[in-house]
Amino acid sequence: MAIETVGVVGAGQMGNGIAHVFALAGYDVLLNDISEASLNHAIEVIDRNLERQVSRGKIAAEIKAAALARIRTTLSIEEIGQTDLVIEAATENETVKQKIFAAVQPHLKPTTILTSNTSSISITRLASRTDRPEKFMGFHFMNPVPVMQLVELIRGIATDKDTYDALHEVVKRLGKTAASAEDFPAFIVNRILIPMINEAVYTLYEGVGSVKSIDESLKLGANHPMGPLELADFIGLDTCLAIMNVLYDGLADTKYRPCPLLTKYVEAGWLGRKSGRGFYDYRGEVPVPTR
Ligand code: NAD
Repeated sequence: MAIETVGVVGAGQMGNGIAHVFALAGYDVLLNDISEASLNHAIEVIDRNLERQVSRGKIAAEIKAAALARIRTTLSIEEIGQTDLVIEAATENETVKQKIFAAVQPHLKPTTILTSNTSSISITRLASRTDRPEKFMGFHFMNPVPVMQLVELIRGIATDKDTYDALHEVVKRLGKTAASAEDFPAFIVNRILIPMINEAVYTLYEGVGSVKSIDESLKLGANHPMGPLELADFIGLDTCLAIMNVLYDGLADTKYRPCPLLTKYVEAGWLGRKSGRGFYDYRGEVPVPTR
């Protein structure tokens, strides 16, 4: 299974990072979104992030130019079907993801591998609605994609060995490291990380600590590079809430109930860095805690 062309669906913070690393590794990338503004913004972000790698001496200017030239954007999901590997990285909502796979399916080559970058949704269930559950996998990149070394590879119940091996090779070509996770809610990283973030929000909600003291405590007391609330803003509070709901529904255990304060921030549209405000307000020169 030779993979040379990659279709990325969803050009948000994950989609643009995925397009960036695949283009740098020499793949031709077709980036799709329903919003032209998202596509334009994604190219600007990729350009800026590649430039940062040039200025730090990590890549040459010609490598940056060649990588950018390998990325094409499209509003048409049909075009994505002709790629060798589809990576769905749209909003963390099962209905949205199912609609994307249904829309791309009639245009797929028989050999195309389908993957989802979902943080938590069942790969087996997403796969079962397509015509190729054996060629379907979870392909979970970490944020920010150009920086983070790990990629979780999640096999659905029907995923075949050739598909797993092909994606393992892709991860190697990207210069990253694969970890295999079984297909249970939120896999490995988020099964552990997101309940910790949710607990930090409970700690804030119950008045045990302020945004500042909670983040400082975990940074200085547990040697975490970022505080949990700062990290939640970085991931996106809507994504954190969606993952808690998947854990709560999928494992039927009340220990996974989302904190009402997390729900309130999402209801307010305070989604973290991507919307300018979350547990911190990013609209000024320096982030200011919102509680
Ligand atoms: P985001 O909100 O930054 O981007 C989502 C993008 O999907 C938007 O540009 C939106 O316009 C687009 N979109 C929505 N519906 C679409 C459709 N039908 N067709 C094409 N594009 C569509 O979200 P994100 O943080 O990039 O997350 C994307 C996925 O990656 C989610 O499944 C999330 O769980 C997963 N993920 C996120 C992180 C993280 O830290 N944010 C980490 C790993 C995985």
